[in-house]
Amino acid sequence: MSDCIFCKIVAGEIKADVVYENEHVLAFRDINPVMPQHLLIIPKQHIATVNDLTPQHSETVGQMYLASAALAKELGFAEKGYRTVINCNRDGGQLVFHLHLHLLGGRAMGWPPG
Ligand code: AMP
Repeated sequence: MSDCIFCKIVAGEIKADVVYENEHVLAFRDINPVMPQHLLIIPKQHIATVNDLTPQHSETVGQMYLASAALAKELGFAEKGYRTVINCNRDGGQLVFHLHLHLLGGRAMGWPPG
C-alpha cells in the first residue's frame, strides 16, 4: 500500500534498523522502544490487522513467530523470557495498520497489561 509506513520500510523507501529478513517477513528495531529490547516483526505483504487474516496467511503468521523466537535466542533473552504482542484496532492500542508483532524483552514485565 502506497501510504503505509511499514510497506515503505519493506520497499526500502524509509530506513529502519533491520535485524532479520526472509522471503515472508522483515524484523527491525522499534523507533520508540518501550523495553530494553523492542523489535517489530512484520509480514512483507500488507495485512492491516489480525482481523484481516485468512487461512492463506498461515505460513506468514508462522514465520512471524518463528522469527521472533529465533531473534530472542540470537539477542540473548530467550531463556530469561520475553513477550510477543500483536495489538489490534483501537482498544488494542494499534497505531500502525500493517500487521506487526512486538517482540519485547530485556527485563521482567508485569501482568496484566494496562
Ligand atoms: P502499534 O501501537 O501496535 O500499532 O505499534 C506501532 C509501533 O510502530 C510503535 O511501537 C512505534 O514506535 C513503531 N513505529 C512507528 N514508526 C516506526 C518506524 N518508522 N520505524 C520503527 N518503528 C516504528
